[in-house]
Parts: sequence; C-alpha cells; structure tokens
Amino acid sequence: HDSPLFSGLPGDIETSFEFFPPKTDKMSETLWRSVETLKPLGPRFASVTYGAGGSTRSRTHKQVVRIQSEAGIPAAAHLTCVQATREEVDEVARHYWDEGIRHIVALRGDPPDGAAHYTPHPGGYANAADLITGLKKVADFEISVAAYPEVHPDSPDRQADIANLKTKFDAGATRAITQFFFDPECFFRFRDEAAAAGIHGEIVPGIMPVLSFAAVQRMSTLCGTAIPDWMAGLFDGLDDRPEARQLVSATIAAELCRRLYAGGVRQFHFYTLNRAELSYAICHMLGLRPKGATA
Ligand code: FAD
Repeated sequence: HDSPLFSGLPGDIETSFEFFPPKTDKMSETLWRSVETLKPLGPRFASVTYGAGGSTRSRTHKQVVRIQSEAGIPAAAHLTCVQATREEVDEVARHYWDEGIRHIVALRGDPPDGAAHYTPHPGGYANAADLITGLKKVADFEISVAAYPEVHPDSPDRQADIANLKTKFDAGATRAITQFFFDPECFFRFRDEAAAAGIHGEIVPGIMPVLSFAAVQRMSTLCGTAIPDWMAGLFDGLDDRPEARQLVSATIAAELCRRLYAGGVRQFHFYTLNRAELSYAICHMLGLRPKGATA
C-alpha cells in the first residue's frame, strides 16, 4: 500500500486538540503559545479537560472561554459527574451555554482521591449516559463522549462496554473520542464491533504523542492501554536525550496515524499535553497546512 502520508499529502483530514487547564502563569503561557501554534491548522474544536472532582472547574472554564473568544477556535468543555449534584453540574453547563460554548465532552470521571471504585455522588449523575440526558435538558449541546478500544477497566467485558457506548449515543452524543492506544488494529476492531452493535456516530481516535515514556507507562496501567514491547525498546536509552526522544515520538505517532489513515480514518483528536510541536509535526505529515498558506 502506497503511503498516503509520505507520498500523497492528502490533507483531507480533520483534527481537534485537547488541552488541560494550567496551574501557573508559566504553564498558562505555554498553553497559550500552543493554542496559537495549532490554530492556523484549522481544528474543528479544541477541548479542555476537567480535573478530578471538579477541582479545575474555574480554570477549565476560563481556558474554554478564552480559546473560543480570543483564539476563535470552537471550544469544548470537558465535564464530569464526580462529587457534584445534578444541580451543580447543570449550573456549570448553563453557564457555558450563556457564554456561547455549545460543545461538552461528557464524562463520568474517575473515582476521587485514588479510591478503587467509582461511587456516584448522592443526588449526582450516575454515569456519562445519565449526564448526557441531563445536559440535553439544559440546552441542545453538541456532545462528545469517551470510548475505549481496549475496554474500560470497570467494564465486565467488551460487549458491555460497547453497549454502554451505544447508550451514550442514544442519549444524544454525536461523537466518541477514544482513549489513547498504540495498535491501530485494536482501533479497527473496536470500530467494526461498534458498527456491528448499531453505532453509526463518529468514533475519533485519540492520539497521544509520547512526551514522557514513563508518564505514558503510568497512564497506560491506569486506563488499560497496552504498550507494545517494540515501543519500550524504542524509548530505551533516551531518558537523557529529549530531542532524540521527540523525533522518535513523532515517528511513532505519525506511523500510527498513517496506518489509521490507510484504514479510512479522517478525523484525529490529539492529546497535546499543552505542547504544540509533536501534534503540529504529525498534522503536517498528514498533509495539513496552515489555513491560507499555499501548499
Ligand atoms: P461511562 O461511559 O459512564 O462508563 C464507564 C465504565 O463503566 C464503562 O466501562 C461502562 O461500561 C461502565 N458502566 C457505565 N454505566 C454502567 C452501568 N449502568 N452498568 C454497568 N456498567 C456501566 N476524566 C476526567 O476526570 N476529566 C476529563 O476531562 C477527562 N477527559 C477524558 C477525555 C477522553 C477522550 C477520555 C477517553 C477519557 C477522559 N477522562 C476524563 C477519563 C474518564 O473520566 C474515565 O475513563 C472514567 O473512568 C470513565 O468515564 P466515561 O465517561 O467513559 O464513563
């Protein structure tokens, strides 16, 4: 198969970028530089995550509104059910709607403080599907949800996990964004199983360019993502070589995207970790150019 990435520069892809709310002024500057760098690529939307238990509520809000009003990128606010009543969550959503934010990434959230099991807040939304039903009563938001090609750790099995995803689409989601993964076959299998279960909405792969291999290993253990042996081998010996590591990361992510593209994927969501360069380089290799620039 001829590489669509490195020979054709098709440029027919659509992207979105995910950021997290910064804690300090310095981190805020980094985030903002990244937003400015990625903006000319014309993302469909940029989303901002929501810390455990709503701990970042006001910081998430501030960045979401800023991304939309100052950078002019349609912004999506992540929102979870954790440690909040329905009324509190509805209030956060209403506030977004009043400020012109029309897109929510609706999530259950993880148990707070490292608790082993998730327990819904008394009076709160029980899970993501329940949250979507509530949000749709507040206003007609565009809703994205989470999906798990390698199965969510709380799920009894693949079938139940896909049934849960279907429930989220049936409740009003228009798009699912996947947890990060490194094996494209695992995404294709998931996409096929979802289609067979009657899910016809968009399933967008979440791409995690590896900034720190140790951090990705930690996250993978928590969320059940498999790290292929070959990948550990590629990062071995690069702990003190950040620049070489970045080149390796870009190559791995670009190869993943190339294979996804060859399998028909045209939409990509990047976990930027507030850094632009890796996501920018991968989008560039997928043929994206700044809007207005000649190819
Ligand atoms: P749900 O879809 O509600 O379900 C989670 C699991 O529970 C599934 O396995 C499902 O099968 C099972 N389940 C749900 N309901 C039932 C039921 N009634 N009976 C049996 N099983 C059930 N976390 C944050 O805190 N903040 C963020 O900003 C954030 N952003 C994310 C963005 C993306 C793209 C992704 C993929 C994840 C994100 N997360 C975030 C992590 C997410 O909150 C966790 O993965 C969480 O554990 C599950 O959330 P969910 O919305 O997928 O839950």
